[in-house]
Amino acid sequence: HLENPEPLKSEMNREVGKAVAALTGKRGDPKNPELTIVLNIADDCTELQIASLYFYGRYLKHVRGIPQTHWDCRACRGKGCELCNFTGKQYPTSVEEEIARVPVEIFQADAGILHGAGREDIDALCYGTGRPFVMEMANPKIRTADLRELEEAINKSAMPEVEVRLESWSNKKTVEMLKSHKGHKTYRILVSVDDRISLENVQNAVSKLNGAWIAQRTPNRVSHRRADLVRKRQVIGIQVLGIENGLYRLEVVGDSGLYIKELISGDEGRTSPSLSEILAAPAKVTELDVVQVDGLSNT
Ligand SMILES: [Zn+2]
Repeated sequence: HLENPEPLKSEMNREVGKAVAALTGKRGDPKNPELTIVLNIADDCTELQIASLYFYGRYLKHVRGIPQTHWDCRACRGKGCELCNFTGKQYPTSVEEEIARVPVEIFQADAGILHGAGREDIDALCYGTGRPFVMEMANPKIRTADLRELEEAINKSAMPEVEVRLESWSNKKTVEMLKSHKGHKTYRILVSVDDRISLENVQNAVSKLNGAWIAQRTPNRVSHRRADLVRKRQVIGIQVLGIENGLYRLEVVGDSGLYIKELISGDEGRTSPSLSEILAAPAKVTELDVVQVDGLSNT
């Protein structure tokens, strides 16, 4: 066997690179290749790897009841059964599928994968400035398009459920930044509290939460998939906007990771302080929408 195979490998790469450049008139970019051809000398074959294509934007979700990404049917785990009408899916569509449908065709890709800056609940809307995302096209055969035309085509297909505003082409690094990004989030919520509690009392209680640090033990509703621990998150801002049909309309700006439903309900004492704790009466979120998610400043 070879003591030091590296010189042979780089020699091969250099020579094959020269030959391919001569044949195609294209130059290689070893740091950021669009195509990688793996020469398997042992098996005398080659393997073509196509780098994913990425674009960055924000999405708005105008209807309730669709998840951010596609979910396999719980009964058949995606194989297809009577319960899911042989689609293999738990929900008929998702934000991901609505956004990906057209670009998958345009770029002749195998699939579109949505990377969001966090996610909203299935029953929540996302409006205002929308939620930042990167859409990844897997195995694209085409790599160029006009971003404005792409946006128009996506919206024509995805509306009225989902709408996008595309901002730039993107890359894998941005996906990682997006995943680790800790921005503030703005929510509009409807809250029900006991009729006997006055508007003034509610406003006083809400003002005590303004700027407060909240100790949140992992909520009951997510404890099956998150580690059970206490997190400190800040309420950046909270205010009562008005009363609608006996429910309080609130706007909340919170640290990324602040659980809003529990900030209101107290989650049986697991979140403290909470609106319910301050009022000494039950309080519950009946509707929650995301208005704004801080995006990345330079992508
Ligand atoms: Zn099924």
